[in-house]
Amino acid sequence: MGETGAMSTELTAGVSTEVVDICSELIRIDTSNYGTNEGPGERKAAEYVAGLLDEVGIESTILESANSRASLVADWAPEGTDTTLPPLLVHGHLDVVPANAADWQVDPFAGEITDGCVWGRGAVDMKDFDAMVLDVVRARARAGAAPRRPIKLVFTADEEAGSQYGATWLVNEHRDLLEGCTEAIGEVGGFSLTIRDDLRLYLIQTAEKGMAWLNLFADGRAGHGSFRNDDNAVTELAAAVARIGQHKWPYKITSAQQAFLDAVSEALDIELNLDEVEQTLTRLGSISRMVGATMSNTANPTMLGGGYKHNVIPGQATASIDGRFVPGGREEFLATIKELLGDKVRYEFEQDNAAVETEFSGALVEAMQHCLAVEDPGAKAVPYLMSGGTDAKAWDKLGIRSFGFAPLRLPAELDFVGMFHGVDERVPTDSLEFGTRVLDRFLQQA
Ligand SMILES: [Zn+2]
Repeated sequence: MGETGAMSTELTAGVSTEVVDICSELIRIDTSNYGTNEGPGERKAAEYVAGLLDEVGIESTILESANSRASLVADWAPEGTDTTLPPLLVHGHLDVVPANAADWQVDPFAGEITDGCVWGRGAVDMKDFDAMVLDVVRARARAGAAPRRPIKLVFTADEEAGSQYGATWLVNEHRDLLEGCTEAIGEVGGFSLTIRDDLRLYLIQTAEKGMAWLNLFADGRAGHGSFRNDDNAVTELAAAVARIGQHKWPYKITSAQQAFLDAVSEALDIELNLDEVEQTLTRLGSISRMVGATMSNTANPTMLGGGYKHNVIPGQATASIDGRFVPGGREEFLATIKELLGDKVRYEFEQDNAAVETEFSGALVEAMQHCLAVEDPGAKAVPYLMSGGTDAKAWDKLGIRSFGFAPLRLPAELDFVGMFHGVDERVPTDSLEFGTRVLDRFLQQA
């Protein structure tokens, strides 16, 4: 049975039936990540995934980095798989950001299926992709349809808080489990952006900005609030924070960003010049919020601290900066920050995560393009640079090329980008089913 899978060029496991239910069930398992280890953790979700894999004869291992902070790793290489090829890492995180139920139209952890959508926290970030992967693998395992090459399934904890208890921990403590992987697919990409009825751009993530979360410190002379003080830590810090917050970062266009802009320019049939590029991007809808931020480095002040009484000048004041730099932009970013800080304010890193970038080329990319085009004749795959971070940063430490490829054909009117960490997060059931068909083909070719 396995052989048919390897030899047929377009064999797929057939139309999916489970993806919607699995997605809904995963949402019902609350895996809120508060950035501490006090939430529910991912253990229950990992056990649910292990059960689904076990039902079709796929063994998996659950690994706990801390109390209930669980990730799962499984190798799938049934008969018919070409085991001389390196395994493809297919990964999704199990945790979600918390949700304030009072803001929602539905219970964010009920996994409701209404109006053609699965609703709930994680519906797009990223229990949707977790469900698609599980559905495809289960359907293929049942049908004896082997993937072309071995698949390394990894479901991680803690992505939403920086991966310390998930992907980063796996890379540091269980590197052997990821042995041999050279390429990976996961979030955030593969979704469609409608240009016209007959043209949809599918954004494949090939790069992510780096993160420089900085703690600022100003030290001055403490003293009575009624005295003159020309060495006031609060004054110095506030001035530096204002300089950073108001700085206009120059455009720094990476190759992924340029490729995206070229594709947009071609699709909209307009010349894009840098003076009005951001205005043009607004024609793409809410996605412009995400891609606008990838035109340059950015730094936003996010927290302030200092002092304890109205009439006491403190000896120190602090601030936090969320800094993001484009691939290749770290040194310039830090040099600019130092200049903006001046002599009296210093910084330390809270987090210093490299940017990642890979080429939009090669057999894996061709397989993505092909599989999208078969399922959607109006599809055009384009690379893009993402403003945030994902588990790809951890895999990058092992030299693994990462792509954001969680295929979803979306209705033109859906504010998809706004769904990430947003209120009333939901994913159309049609989109999920489309995604499983693409992934099914993709495993055949990848
Ligand atoms: Zn995510």
